[in-house]
Order: sequence, then C-alpha cells, then structure tokens
Amino acid sequence: MTTSTIGFPRIGKLRELKFATQKYFKQTINESDLRQVAADLRKEHLTLQQARGIDFIPSNDFSFYDQVLDAAVLFNIVPERYRELGLSELDTYFAQARGYQGDAGDVKALALKKWYNTNYHYLVPEIEPSTEIKLVGEKPFNEYEEAKALGIETKPTVIGPFTLLKLAKFTDERQPSAVASELAAVYKEWFARFNQLGADWVQLEEPSLVLDLTEEDKTLLQTLYTDLLAEKGALRVLVQTYFGDVRDVYTELLALDIDGLGLDFVEGKQSLALVQEHGFPADKTLFAGVVNGKNIWRNNYQETLKLVKQLRKKVEQIVLSTSCSLQLVPYTLENETALTDEQKAHLAFATEKLDELNELDTILEHGAQEALEANVDLFDGSRVQSDDTVRQQVADLTEDDFTRRPEAKERVGIQRDAFDLPLLPTTTIGSFPQTAEVRKNRSDFRKGEKSAAEYRKFNEQEIERVIRLQEEIGLDVLVHGECERNDMVEFFGENLDGFLFTEKAWVQSYGTRCVKPPIIWGDVKRREAITVDYSTYAQSLTNQIVKGMLTGPVTIFNWSFPREDLSVKDGIYQLALAIREEVLDLEAHGIKIIQIDEAALREKLPLRQTDWYSEYLDFAIPAFRLVHSGVQPQTQIHTHMCYSEFEDIIESIDAMDADVISFEASRSDLSLIDTLVDVEFQTQVGPGVYDIHSPRVPSQAEIERALETFVNKLPKENIWVNPDCGLKTRSIKETRPALENLVQAAKAIRKQV
Ligand code: GLN
Ligand code: ZN
Repeated sequence: MTTSTIGFPRIGKLRELKFATQKYFKQTINESDLRQVAADLRKEHLTLQQARGIDFIPSNDFSFYDQVLDAAVLFNIVPERYRELGLSELDTYFAQARGYQGDAGDVKALALKKWYNTNYHYLVPEIEPSTEIKLVGEKPFNEYEEAKALGIETKPTVIGPFTLLKLAKFTDERQPSAVASELAAVYKEWFARFNQLGADWVQLEEPSLVLDLTEEDKTLLQTLYTDLLAEKGALRVLVQTYFGDVRDVYTELLALDIDGLGLDFVEGKQSLALVQEHGFPADKTLFAGVVNGKNIWRNNYQETLKLVKQLRKKVEQIVLSTSCSLQLVPYTLENETALTDEQKAHLAFATEKLDELNELDTILEHGAQEALEANVDLFDGSRVQSDDTVRQQVADLTEDDFTRRPEAKERVGIQRDAFDLPLLPTTTIGSFPQTAEVRKNRSDFRKGEKSAAEYRKFNEQEIERVIRLQEEIGLDVLVHGECERNDMVEFFGENLDGFLFTEKAWVQSYGTRCVKPPIIWGDVKRREAITVDYSTYAQSLTNQIVKGMLTGPVTIFNWSFPREDLSVKDGIYQLALAIREEVLDLEAHGIKIIQIDEAALREKLPLRQTDWYSEYLDFAIPAFRLVHSGVQPQTQIHTHMCYSEFEDIIESIDAMDADVISFEASRSDLSLIDTLVDVEFQTQVGPGVYDIHSPRVPSQAEIERALETFVNKLPKENIWVNPDCGLKTRSIKETRPALENLVQAAKAIRKQV
C-alpha cells in the first residue's frame, strides 16, 4: 500500500511565511527575499513529507495567500480593476487578496468567504464579460520542477474546474456552463504542460462535489470532464474530494476516464456505503481519506484498519490518505513545551499525521504489532478528566430547561417599563479599540512582569476611560470594552475546566491571519465567575445600563478543536451549562442586559441541506436557549452574529428567543431586512449601520440613510442602532467620530418617526 497527502500547511512551523509577507507589505524586504522564504519553506515541507515516508507528495499546494486565488490567476481570471493598476504580477495578486490604496489607484479586495465548513477563507474569483480565460501562470510548473530538482516526484495539485466554477462569481447574468468549454480548454493545456514535464499523477481538487448537486451541476461536471479527460495523455488523473461524501455523483465520477478518486471517510458519512453498494473499478485507485485532516487527535488505528479491511473487499488499489488538506491543522507538536507527554500522546498535528499514515501502512503490510498495540492502549485508557456531575446534568436536561418564560411578546413590555430607553436605542457590540497599552498590559501580566493588582488597576482605569467616552458620545447602552480579552473564545476557554492551550499551533484563517484554536480536552465546567468582576465594576461607574458580554456555547465550540469521544451535541450542551451559570451570576450581580455572542453559529451549518436540522440546528439553537432560559423576564438578552448570511435559517434565529440580535448589514444588500419583514421576525434587531472592518469614518448623513431604510421597513420599536461588529481592531481616532455620527443620526431619525 502507499500513502498520500492532499496538501500541507504552507505558513511554516513558526509562521515564517506570515512574517515575511508582512515585511514585504511594509517594504522592509523585497520580492526576491519573499520568494526565497517561500522556496525554503516549500523545500522543508517536501523533504519532511519524503522523510516521513509519504509516497504521493503534492506540489503547488503552496500559496502566497490562497489556493483559489492562485487557480483564478493561473487561468487569467483577474478583474479589470486590478489589471488597470499596472502593478507587478505579485503585487496584482496581493491587490486582489487585500485591496490596494496608493499611487497606482484605490481598489477594494475580492470578496473573502468561508471555505466550506471550515474557518479558512478563500477569495471569490470574479468572471467579468471581458475575462479571457487562458493559461498564463507558471507557478504549478515551476513548483513541480523545483521539487523534481530536489529528487522528489510530486503530484501537482490544482483546484478542479467544477469547484472553480462553482466558487466563482459572474459579474453578468451568465451561468457557469457558459464558460465550461473555455475552462476545459485551459485545464487541457495544464495537462499538456505536465505531460511535457513528464509528471505521472496530477490532482484536481473538487470539494464542491460533496455539496447538494442539481441536474445542471451534474451536466456541468460531465461537460467539463469528458472534454478534459479526452486529452490527459500519459497523465494519471486523481479527482480529489473532501469535507463530505459524493453521494450525488459517485457512479458518474467512476464512469469518467479518471485514474483515481479521492474520498473522505472521516466526514463523508456515506463514503463507505457508496463503495460497498456500487463497488469500485479494478483499474482505478481509491485514495482513501482515513486520517482526519481537520482535527488534532491521534488516529484510532483499530477503527481505521477495520475500515480498510472493509474497503479491500471491494477495492483492489488503495492509497491511504488524509481526509482533506493538512492546511487546516497546525504544523507540528514539536514546539509545544507546555503540554505534557501524556497529553501529546493523544494528539497529532500535520507532521505527526504523516507518521500515522506511514505507521498504518506498515501495520497493513507487515503487521507491526507493537505500533498497533501502543495505539490501542491510547484509546483504552481513560484519557479525559471526566466530570460525572456535568455529564449527569446534561443527561437530566428536560424541555423546561430550554424554555424561557414568559414568552418574548410579554417580555417586551416588561423590559420597556424597566429600562426607559429611547426609541432606536444606541449601543456597540462590545469591544473598544485595543490599544498597544491594553495589549501590553495583558502580555506583561502573562509573563509575570506585572502583579495581579497592577494588571487589574490598569484594566479598571481602561474601563473607566471607555465608560466616560461612551457617556460623552451619548450612547444609551454601554459596554465595559473587553480590555481583558485577547480573543473571545480563548478568554472563556482559559476560565473553564476542560480546555488545553497550545503555544505554536497556528492555523491559517486567511492570508497572513492565523488562529490558534484551543483544544477541548475533557468535560467542560465553569470554575468560578468569569466576567462578573469587570462587568459590575463598569456598572458601578455609571447610571446608564452596562451590558454584560459573553461568548455563546456554539461559537466557543466551533472555534475550538472538538473532542471525538463525545457527541457534538453533548459538547455544546456542556458549554451551554457553563455559560448559563455565568449568565445567572451576572444577573444576580445586577447586570440588566446580557449579550451572548454567537459569531460562529452559521459557520458550522452542515454542507448538505438535508442535515441542517438533524445534525446541527436541532441542538445548536436549543443550546442557546439553555444558556438564557433561567433569567428573570426583565433581564434583556442580546446576541450578536458577525455575518448576516442567515436568511435561509431565519426561523431558527428567531427560535434562539433572544430579546435583541445585532448583525452585520452594512456591506450586504438589504434583502435580509426584507426577509425579516416577510417572516414577521419577533426578535428586536440591530442591523449594523457601518462597517467596522475599514478605518473609514461614516458620515451622519449616511447613517441616517441606513436608519431610514430600516425604519421604513421594520416596526420602529424593534430597531437598535449599532455598528457591525466589535471595535477592537479600530483606533480611537476613527472610533470616536464614527460613534458620534451614529448617535447624532439616531437622534435625528427619532425626531422624524
Ligand atoms: N463582543 C465581541 C466584540 O465586540 C464580538 C466580536 C465578534 O462578533 N467577532 O469584540
Ligand atoms: Zn461580529
């Protein structure tokens, strides 16, 4: 048997690529310096995989920013506005990735979107009427030859034509089928070049094949591939899927003249059944994704071996592979100094997953009993600190625990009397600008350079500053500003039992931005009050209401590496119970409005619509209700979501039964507002009136215009006025005038309605 990887993390084990790229942006290094760093990283990643015994090593999985943008650029799918800047090839690429503002012009970046059900983001290619699809780039060929020069025969990879078309956006009315033959032609050329270079296997990544496919989609797939494969020459073509199973096109794919099909046996619930039911042709190779490319736990060899044995009954040629590209997990465990050996034994990052593939291969070929037994022991022992009370609490939950009383309709009046807020109340989403001093205070404390008392004193001064600022601006509902929080998930994780933290386990989120998700290691429990002290301190400074600020259970869960020995539902319910305790504690300490952020709720919606409810919403939404169902009628519960892409699950959002929800609306079209009208949305809403992702200060007039639209469509008593999201990444310089304009705009509109 042999082994394969789909892609390897490219950011470097200590984020070398991120730092070099940022230096290039600041012009402290030049293009050839940056290219050298990239080449060194590629070499390191190739030789590492070779040394760890991987047979099918990918090339062209490297990217300066994003692999979808790479494919678009390779095929000349570059909007006019970026070409017109007249920049170098590399700078035109970065202009699309992050926008450009300078001597050559002023253009915004391409849209950034979530990569399927992950926290990685890709750039959305734009196909304009004038786009001339043709092969223009050299990157895949150069990187293949670069590897060959190192003595490594690689499997060049590229985003496949079906996925590229499904992800791209047409700026005119055309449908993907309109450019299918043009696109097939450039992939043919890509094949021809690799034929010339003498490549053996090539990999076309087609994750879009695991989605719900329509008849048109299937026709598109046929058109693209029948044409394309007719000219593959001596190449062997692998169509690689991931993030699910290909139940809609399994037999169609195998009827194509491909040489290999890559299936995900981790997230693909029906992958095994598909193979068992329909078989697998003897002349094709199955690249079986058996090692989880998304999570960080050791592979359970016994289970994997059982799976492979079942596959062997139907499949003659099997290659062991990861379930998806390893770009979604951290690079290596080697630099984790704070984790114990015992903890590390249960974890596998990208590098360790290479060893797992190799070990599984050895066990299958030669028995290798010792390796197998060591692995069996890992899963036998009771790894987790388990907490019977938490488990019992989850088991004992009844419908009552998920129901807040009285109904929302009745609460509205009670809260209106209790608060005495004006029409169109103004507020913010929680965080205030995190200045260098705020961040230094936290890091000094962490490093032990500041005592707890000094640390706290600084935070209290900062909170007071933020409260006074909001009072001066004239906001109605205030916040404490979140100066004690590094990250909205990490902060809560650090204050709960059951979490593990890493030092260098970064994962690319987009471009140069990396995240370090905590690991849910054991049963989750709140140790003690987490936010009560700073919230009550802030409230003590003012007569206005200060909102308490929490992160919701679904978001904490979705932005962590979850356990595999506990169901998603139970994992989220454990977190919900912990945050519920905090909610009740805040209420008991006099906090009247509590915001529970669910920024990542939409993100883990299953890729297939048939699974939306049964596999997710049926417990994610109740989990949110569990968090707040215990509060008094007069306590107002807010929630916040960063993206407003929830039109299709709008009833579920209402069913969270919050009293108020704020969300991003300034960059999206206003169709969501119409949907709110259509479904007679119950929850009060705060559609963001300006974009906080940009340093631009919105004028009072433009905020008034946004408010007018909202007031004309929605019941005016249901509307709140707030920015899009937290202000943490902004500076005070632009935040103050922006919020002043927001307050003045609200006042002006109040007079008109
Ligand atoms: N309360 C958080 C903040 O203001 C919310 C952040 C988010 O939604 N991403 O920073
Ligand atoms: Zn947000």
